[in-house]
Amino acid sequence: MTDFAATKALFHLPEGMIYLDGNSLGPLPRATPERVARTLQQEWGEMVITGWNRAGWMAQPMALGDRIGRLIGAEPGHVTLGDTLSVKVFQALAAALAMTDRRVILSDSGNFPSDLYMAEGLVEALGGGRSLRVVAPEDVADHLTEEIAVLMLTQVDYRTGRLHDMAALTAKAQALGIVTVWDLAHSAGALAVDVAGAGADFAVGCTYKYLNGGPGAPAFIYVAPRHAQVAKPILAGWLGHDTPFAFEQSYRPGEGVARMRVGTPPVIQMAALEASMDIWDGIDMTALRDASVALTERFITGVEATCPDLDLASPRDAQARGSQVSFRHPEGYAAMQACIAHGVVGDFRAPDIMRFGFTPLFIDEGDVDRAVEVIARVMRDRLWDDPAMQARGAVT
Ligand SMILES: *Cc1c(COP(=O)(O)O)cnc(C)c1O
Repeated sequence: MTDFAATKALFHLPEGMIYLDGNSLGPLPRATPERVARTLQQEWGEMVITGWNRAGWMAQPMALGDRIGRLIGAEPGHVTLGDTLSVKVFQALAAALAMTDRRVILSDSGNFPSDLYMAEGLVEALGGGRSLRVVAPEDVADHLTEEIAVLMLTQVDYRTGRLHDMAALTAKAQALGIVTVWDLAHSAGALAVDVAGAGADFAVGCTYKYLNGGPGAPAFIYVAPRHAQVAKPILAGWLGHDTPFAFEQSYRPGEGVARMRVGTPPVIQMAALEASMDIWDGIDMTALRDASVALTERFITGVEATCPDLDLASPRDAQARGSQVSFRHPEGYAAMQACIAHGVVGDFRAPDIMRFGFTPLFIDEGDVDRAVEVIARVMRDRLWDDPAMQARGAVT
């Protein structure tokens, strides 16, 4: 059992704000400033370059990889960190393509643009008749054929929260000789994931969403143990070399997933992530999922009872949904700005999606009820119908 009232006290949440956007940028753990200050002052400040050895900076990517690995059901020693998610998608996809003679990458139209752009760029760079095929999320299973090289999916749809059945799709793909790449951006820290149990070949994800590592926190990559010694990292950086400090002229891949490291780890950002993982280490993912489902069910029931103009865009069946709830409204952008102005922070995804994330670590039933009241007032009193709510920032 996890005590979520206790975990809530471990976060700094701005006064008067109900933060339903932890799926986009997790809030600040109270322990993070001190942990980062320690790295700055006692490590960088006092140890300078000896910090790489004395403060364990060089070991952070693999050590943190194991802590994240527990949350996604990875075997110890098979997750590492670095770069941003877009880069890790590129690496996993390239490594997957290198394992097959086939040429088609299959993905879905609900995937995050950067994942699709990376696939487009990669097939263009590799040439040889390779291509990306994008189908509707509900049609993916029907498009798995012996023509497909790689199935690349984001498990939870960033717009709607629709959840793919990772185990079933992976099993079907592998029976047809297809290599799988799973993006866990909206799964890691949101629900119980079991990459080893599902037999996933590669998995990637980010740490600034549900994992609360802070803006710019590094991404993670998992390579199944059966591929770890053969996977080609494509971005052959010196820290993925077997012996970086031998400074050899030619690249030789490092041991297992460590070959997926590229360059110097972001040490300060990793210190922030360490503080957050101190919270995550104690969380039971089954309890988290149960609490998350209870929150999303309560939110949907409340909004549907009070806001007839909002259409549920997320699956109604909780088992088919991640840890977010989305509603459609033609004035969704302005409506979300009005919610934010009244203390309920979610976000907007074009063209018409109002998106709300639920994290039991710091959101409770009282927050859900207060958020429903604010959203109901915004819709009933048409608070979105105001020029001030229409102005758009660069980030929505
Ligand atoms: C958030 C997200 C990204 C962002 O990638 P970065 O390189 O970290 O900016 C990529 N893919 C998915 C599926 C995401 O949800």
